[in-house]
Amino acid sequence: AKETGKSRCVTYSARQSGPPEHDISLEAAMFNAVREGEFQLYFQPIVDARSRQIQGFETLMRWKHPTLGMVPPARFIPIAETNGLINLLGAWALKAACVQLPQFEEAAGRELYISVNISPRQFRNDKFLDVLDDALNFSGLPGNKLVLEITEGTLMIDPAHAEAILAKMTERRARIAIDDFGTGYSSLAYLKRFPISVLKVDRAFIKDLPDSAKDAAIVNAVLDLAKHLDLSVVAEGVETELQLDYLEQRGCQYIQGYLTGKPMPAHVAVAALKEDLYA
Ligand code: C2E
Ligand code: CA
Ligand code: CA
Ligand code: CA
Repeated sequence: AKETGKSRCVTYSARQSGPPEHDISLEAAMFNAVREGEFQLYFQPIVDARSRQIQGFETLMRWKHPTLGMVPPARFIPIAETNGLINLLGAWALKAACVQLPQFEEAAGRELYISVNISPRQFRNDKFLDVLDDALNFSGLPGNKLVLEITEGTLMIDPAHAEAILAKMTERRARIAIDDFGTGYSSLAYLKRFPISVLKVDRAFIKDLPDSAKDAAIVNAVLDLAKHLDLSVVAEGVETELQLDYLEQRGCQYIQGYLTGKPMPAHVAVAALKEDLYA
């Protein structure tokens, strides 16, 4: 992708509730954006709660439109999901993320992992396993350094199909994380059925910690459940020291949020790892 070097961030609120025609022009702009290389990847640190050492990065897509500025994923991912462009964008992101990781490891001088979001449509695409194999083969990345983030909803569309795909992913040693854990409408039975390694607790349960007794109860229950099922937990959207302290004391091992690192371009992550800023 093209590096513009600018970090313009245009507020999008005026367009957020715009008419449907706007989405049509946004959709047209997306196809152009693919040709022009306007999509980029940012990387957000996932850190150990106790040591704050970076363990890995979540890959997050960014679209820097020349005049609209930064278009948030919440705007363009749903469109890409509808028109199928997500298959192209997602395949690119997966491959680019796998290629990126060794550079991060070299800068850090130790092993890390890379986490990539897989949308429902991508997961259900016939070519998904080929896309995964292509990313691993092209990059030479060992499968166990790759985490694939999937929502409960993605698994529930067709659980039998999901089970088969997850088994294939596990054969490649890739790990499965449940993204936005707790926000889906599924039963917990799938935790037994599917080979899951990581629960990413949604920010909705983190943001009012430690004051909210209800959120505290939910988070504690998730940590307990994870412990007994031998799953790792990543708390998403941690913004304050109080939240981090609470989570760390309750035995939450991994943290991701603005407090310990915002999503950043690869070269910024490399510089930070080299300077040991995030040790
Ligand atoms: P997500 O997978 O749940 O990603 C976490 C989102 O939370 C990211 O938003 C991240 O920037 C944001 N975040 C991280 N820490 C904090 C914090 O401390 N406070 C707050 N308020 N937010 C925090 P982002 O990058 O805007 O992405 C939004 C969503 O778009 C993602 O949610 C994911 O569902 C989707 N997305 C982003 N990149 C990709 C991609 O490459 N592929 C697919 N399929 N979806 C993507
Ligand atoms: Ca995610
Ligand atoms: Ca999430
Ligand atoms: Ca989310």
